[in-house]
Amino acid sequence: MSNNGARQFREARLVLASHNPGKLVEFQRLFAPYPVELVGAGALSLPEPAETGTTFVENALIKARAAVSASGLPALADDSGLAVTAVGGAPGVYSADWAGPGKDFARAQQRVQTELADTADRSAAFVAVLVLAWPDGHFETAEGQVSGAIVWPPRGDGGFGYDAIFQPDGDAQTFGEMAVDDTGLARKAAFSHRGNAFRALVDRCFNR
Ligand code: IMP
Repeated sequence: MSNNGARQFREARLVLASHNPGKLVEFQRLFAPYPVELVGAGALSLPEPAETGTTFVENALIKARAAVSASGLPALADDSGLAVTAVGGAPGVYSADWAGPGKDFARAQQRVQTELADTADRSAAFVAVLVLAWPDGHFETAEGQVSGAIVWPPRGDGGFGYDAIFQPDGDAQTFGEMAVDDTGLARKAAFSHRGNAFRALVDRCFNR
């Protein structure tokens, strides 16, 4: 373990700066072994800031700082997305936008398939950047990725977003097939960008 001089998290409560129920479920199970009460932004009726950044780090900082200033509590933000190699890393930071205002992820998944068409290279990665921010302005960051392939048609009813079209390298199931129950969520977390970013953050800030 090494924290590279990072600040240790010692508070009792932490706001998850997200209104995405899929992310909240994943973080609640990731934090279960730690003595921290994780509160969702929705439970505190926090506003959702516009994600005007052009990088995952910028957007995660915007969300973390907005949650800190609205709640007065430390906050954790996750900015994440799918980067498809053959379409120049798209949708990337625009992964949520591809679903449109109705958050229609069947449409977003279809757009990935349409853009790929019959391209042989189906490789993709999920990326997650975490920002842990304190009310005094200090923040720490951590990043995680997972490599895999885009499958079509979608498979699996679990998870959220692009889970049903992403199969991580080294497994025969999509994230959508894995994330149907707690055991499957544990399997997703063992592979996932969010799990990897969380483990990096724990190493930096929760290793007291
Ligand atoms: P944001 O970080 O809230 O801007 O949105 C990230 C978007 O990326 C989500 O709405 C999903 O579309 C997608 N995404 C991020 N992580 C995952 C995941 O673990 N599974 C499926 N889709 C994801």
